[in-house]
Amino acid sequence: MEYDIIIGLEIHSELKTQSKVFCGCKNEFGGDPNTQCCPVCLGMPGTLPVLNKTALEYAIKAGLAMNCKISRFSKLDRKNFFYPDMPKAYQISQYDLPICYDGYVDIEVNGETKRIGIERIHIEEDAGKLVHDPYGQGTLIDYNRCGVPLIEIVTRPDIRSPEEARILFETIKSILEYTEVSDCRMQEGSIRADVNLSIRPKGTEAFGVRTEMKNLNSFRSVQRAAEAEAKRQAEVLRKGGVVIQETRRWDDNKGESFSMRGKEEAMDYRYFPEPDLVPIVVDDEWLESIKRSIPELPQSRRDRYINELGIPRYDANLITMNKRVADMFDAAVAVCGNAKTVSNWIMTDIMRRINDKGEAVLDSPLNGKRFGEILLFLEKGEITQASAKKVMDEVIETGAEPSEIIEKRGLKVQRDENLVLDAVRKVIQSNPQAFNDYVSGKEKAFGFLMGRVMGELKGKGDPAQVKEVLTRELQAASS
Ligand SMILES: [Zn+2]
Repeated sequence: MEYDIIIGLEIHSELKTQSKVFCGCKNEFGGDPNTQCCPVCLGMPGTLPVLNKTALEYAIKAGLAMNCKISRFSKLDRKNFFYPDMPKAYQISQYDLPICYDGYVDIEVNGETKRIGIERIHIEEDAGKLVHDPYGQGTLIDYNRCGVPLIEIVTRPDIRSPEEARILFETIKSILEYTEVSDCRMQEGSIRADVNLSIRPKGTEAFGVRTEMKNLNSFRSVQRAAEAEAKRQAEVLRKGGVVIQETRRWDDNKGESFSMRGKEEAMDYRYFPEPDLVPIVVDDEWLESIKRSIPELPQSRRDRYINELGIPRYDANLITMNKRVADMFDAAVAVCGNAKTVSNWIMTDIMRRINDKGEAVLDSPLNGKRFGEILLFLEKGEITQASAKKVMDEVIETGAEPSEIIEKRGLKVQRDENLVLDAVRKVIQSNPQAFNDYVSGKEKAFGFLMGRVMGELKGKGDPAQVKEVLTRELQAASS
């Protein structure tokens, strides 16, 4: 039997406010354990929370960027459960009146646009972190992350494949980066996704029983976890079993998931309105000013690249998905002038560097301006492609200016006709076999000789000129 896959995502993202959501502690990653907490975020008796207005503003901004309606009246609620990383034994969250609701995000799947509903976005506080002692002596708790502001983005179950789930996660991350409400540093856990998945026989309407996999912190793990879970559920059903509603833990190294606990229902948490915080009222003026603060979003930037700069849709999509790459593109085009050259080099060279070395490349001295300068030298025919790559490597390594590197390394293209002619003659004389092959019609021999001449010119020859001189000399020598 064939099955449809039904997926919904819950994405938690930390907001990059200066301070935590209900107290004045610094909201900063990486301090020594338990150095960024106070009686409020540690849940000491007698303390009172105060809502951080910027956190609320960021949540609204994210909601507007995802086409949500904004609740003009909402409130915070207590979600009650015990876990050692949460000293209050409840989490302040939002239950029936989330700050944002009824939105959507458009994703690009195989060149087509698909709309995924956003059910709600609500504010809540993060919990601390358990550190399991590698020597088996016990478990330590770091409360620094307690009270860090989060938004939880809950999608509708509109996703129909593991690939769509990954693309949606990428798209939402990109929107959060563009609106600058979150750093989205995945390695620090500042954005993570829960995957809710069920399957149903193709052609049927009713949803099957769903399972939830929590805290996936990479695009790849979201897709792989969804693939494996869909397969596992199909296997259970094929054997005549039933899927149990439960929370599962995905092990990315093993490539499989394990049952953790039965899935809780909302009523298990005994939600009730947080008595220590006043309700939230969003007035027109404030809402309008937040609307005005929303920058150009990835989708419209992509359309601009396609329509105004003539960049292919696939390339434009990939470049704009990462705001920092798109910013680099814009800065380079401003210097180099040729948008297509810049996009080709980003799609090949920069993407390869990001794949190999991670996004740290985007923090290197090879910024958009220097990248554009190197491409301008290339555009003017003053350096070769191979030299352009070398200059980029050296800028990243040393931080020197492209023009200095080109000067110092003598990378300017060699156009002296006599030098080129000498090199061509020398190569023809010292490679009689290749010459004979060329005369007898073997096309490949030309490429070989061309490579030798470029080598003779230390990679600095102008390929067009070398080709022309070599063709002329070969014809002269063979006639
Ligand atoms: Zn605090």
